[in-house]
Formats: sequence, C-alpha cells, structure tokens
Amino acid sequence: MIVANHCHVVPEERSPEESPRALLRDMDRLGIDKAVLYPPIPPFSDETRKFFPDGDQNKWVVEACRDYEDRLIPWGTVDIRGDPVTEAEEAYSLGCRGLKMHPQMQGFKLDDPKLDKFFEKLEDLSMPVLFHTGYHGPDPWITHPMYIDYLSRKHPKLVIIMEHMSFPFYTEAATVAAHRENVYLGLAKILRVDHLFKVVKARKGELRVQVLEEDEREYMLPQSICLPPDKLVDFVKTIGADKFIWGADWPMSRRLDIYIKVIENLPLTEEEKSLILGKNILRICKLQFT
Ligand SMILES: [Zn+2]
Repeated sequence: MIVANHCHVVPEERSPEESPRALLRDMDRLGIDKAVLYPPIPPFSDETRKFFPDGDQNKWVVEACRDYEDRLIPWGTVDIRGDPVTEAEEAYSLGCRGLKMHPQMQGFKLDDPKLDKFFEKLEDLSMPVLFHTGYHGPDPWITHPMYIDYLSRKHPKLVIIMEHMSFPFYTEAATVAAHRENVYLGLAKILRVDHLFKVVKARKGELRVQVLEEDEREYMLPQSICLPPDKLVDFVKTIGADKFIWGADWPMSRRLDIYIKVIENLPLTEEEKSLILGKNILRICKLQFT
C-alpha cells in the first residue's frame, strides 16, 4: 500500500487542478492508495481568504475527506497569531489526525516560549505535527534541526515530523531523529534523481532549480543539494525504517511516480519500503494498515 503524506488541497472553485478531486485522479493514475490532505495554511492570501472568512479551513478539509474515508485522511493547521490552543482542540474534535505547520511562512519560531501551551495541548491530544523544515522562503535557519531537537526535548510526548529532512541538513536531521524517540523524518521532494532533470537558466532574483527533462512544469531543488538514494539507504539501515516517511508535496510535485519508483528500487527489504511508503504515516495517524 502506498500513502501519499503531505498533499495540499484547495476548494474546487478556488482551483480545480488543486482540489481533492484532482488529487484523487492523480492517486488513481499513479496507483496511490491513500493520501494525507492539508487545507490552506494561514495567513491566507486575499483570494484564499474569500473561501475561509471565518478561518474554518479545518472543517472544510474534514468534509472534503468524508466521502472518501478509506482513501483521504484529513490533517489541519492553525493560525498561530490567533488562539492556537483552542484551534488545535477544535481541529482534533473535527477529526483532523495531525497538524501541518510552516514556521517560515507562518512567522513563528520553534523555541518561542509563547507556544509552550500550544505544544502541550498537542501532547495532551496525542496530535502529531509536521513542520516544513529546510532552506526555503524567509528565515530559512529557524527550522534548522537544532530547533527541532530543542522542541522535542522540551515536549517529549509531541510527535514531530521534520519534513524535507531540513534540506540540506540531512545529517543533522538524522542525528536528531536518532536521538529523539518522538522525531520522524519526512522525505518530500528531496530525493536526488539526476538523470531526469536538466538545469534551467535562473531569472534574476529567482531560486535556482532544475526542471524535469520531459515536463518543465515539474521542478526540483538543484540535484546537488538533494538527498542521494544511497545516503538514504545508509540512514535507513543504521537508524531504522520506522523513522522515515515519504511525502508527496502535491501539487508542488505531480510526478510522484518518480519518487515512489526511487524508493521501490532501493536495496531495502519489502518491509522497510512499505514502512517508508505508507505504514509509518498510518501508524502516526493511528490508522490501521489495511
Ligand atoms: Zn507543504
């Protein structure tokens, strides 16, 4: 079974190509059994706010998943500038299985003591949290693995997924996960697949990326700062496959087949691959592997 963790969806009327229905079509096309869905993350753009004037994005994503309970798993998010403790409680009672948070985009630091109550609430609710980590967007250093280490020690019952393995600080991220029982490593959009990508000429002020040879809409970080598959095998064999979670980052990536194939072809056991491709995230969501 393959579970695509980390899929961003918006209402059909906002963008049909990024809607839960479009995701289901891609899942069918690519042989993906289940997916974890995130609603838009506040602060919203003006256009997105029109769809969630009352900040009820979590209610929306839970409802969007309801008709496909066996395939779509709702996670929520909270507006960190408001009352995140109450919002986390609400998300939990609505049925969200965890929270996706983006410190850089949402403008918060993992060691801010003002967030202690919020993280304590997540511990009480046994609600996992996935953080975007890595060099991306404003303040790239605030998600360095040392802050995850700090947070995981301060809140030992908080289940944390360090998404993108804090690229390019893979070794630091793996070190934290090796030490802290409550820290997991997300593999969304960081696997190195050189031969499929070509270099593009970056425009002034733009992030340098590489695009897929056969479809230029699919872009990746420069391959030299992605995680080589043999290094991933090394990490898995020495730290344990139960720590790694493949993520899609849909619709930022639509060629999920590329990364699934990389993992399926790794020199790992079938059990190790199935942990990475689905079992681990289902266990964290407290769902059965069926
Ligand atoms: Zn994301």
